[in-house]
Amino acid sequence: VIDINERFAFLTKAIGPGAIARDGVNAVFKCPNCGKDPKKMKLVVKIDDERWHCWVCDVKGGSIRGLLRKYAPQTVNDWSRLYGTKGRSTFLDETKAEAEKVEFPEMLPVSEIRLSKDPDAKAICAYLKSRDISDELAYRYRLCGSIRGKARRRVVFPSFDSEGLPNYWTARSVDKNTTMRYLNPKIERKDIIFNEVDTDWSSEITLVEGPFDMLRAGDNAVPLLGSSLSNESLLFRRIVENATPVVLALDGDVKKKSHNIARLLYSYDVEVRLLETGNVKDVGDMTFEEFLTCKKRATHWKPEDRLSFLIRGISSGSIL
Ligand SMILES: [Zn+2]
Repeated sequence: VIDINERFAFLTKAIGPGAIARDGVNAVFKCPNCGKDPKKMKLVVKIDDERWHCWVCDVKGGSIRGLLRKYAPQTVNDWSRLYGTKGRSTFLDETKAEAEKVEFPEMLPVSEIRLSKDPDAKAICAYLKSRDISDELAYRYRLCGSIRGKARRRVVFPSFDSEGLPNYWTARSVDKNTTMRYLNPKIERKDIIFNEVDTDWSSEITLVEGPFDMLRAGDNAVPLLGSSLSNESLLFRRIVENATPVVLALDGDVKKKSHNIARLLYSYDVEVRLLETGNVKDVGDMTFEEFLTCKKRATHWKPEDRLSFLIRGISSGSIL
């Protein structure tokens, strides 16, 4: 149970006078972004789940800490000390209720695959070598290989949720001529954050497309398992409610999707940097050093960036 009045009082000190609505949960304030007239209180803050939104200028976010960081930064530390650095998870926990049970394929850690004389195990080792995946990397990301069952001749990336319980896996075939490069469990992917167990929401995260990209992107990289981010997904909600800054590191061929993700996050007051992979490379083919260099160069995304990207597309004749 949270003390609405106490938090409301904190907010009035930070961003100015306001009022609690009759429902006892929503509070309204003068919008610190657009509000000039103090009588017009158009910024609504839901004190229980921390979402906030201005009806006039449409600024919004998913955590009070994020609101303070932007408009009353001198108060952020006090807020964190009193109420923690995580946003309230009410709008999240409802959905978490019953996690689906995931059935894992038969698999062995890469360290054991290495010791096996089985030809499939040898093929897996050769594949790892071809992708420049060291034992150290394999150990760090708990990679496995499968030499029996439905994921045979595949490298398996297991995923663990925030409590360290297995919640997903994806398995890449080591064979070139295969109809299905990746095998995944048939569960709702939007409720899955890949390896949340390794994720620190209080520092910048790197969003990448696939599991091999994750291996190159260093600490705090989360694969989207695709190239889009739904505003219905658990990953999206976690980012917004923690106001976690994001580096977007998708492959060069999905620029438009990158801009769309950036725009979505930006509209929820999330800081976004866009990493340019250069014209040749996919993230998964980069070395750590190359990735780090690109990451250092990544600049903060602004809505104008998307527009100029689209305009370049028009002038070069491609269809939007
Ligand atoms: Zn406003």
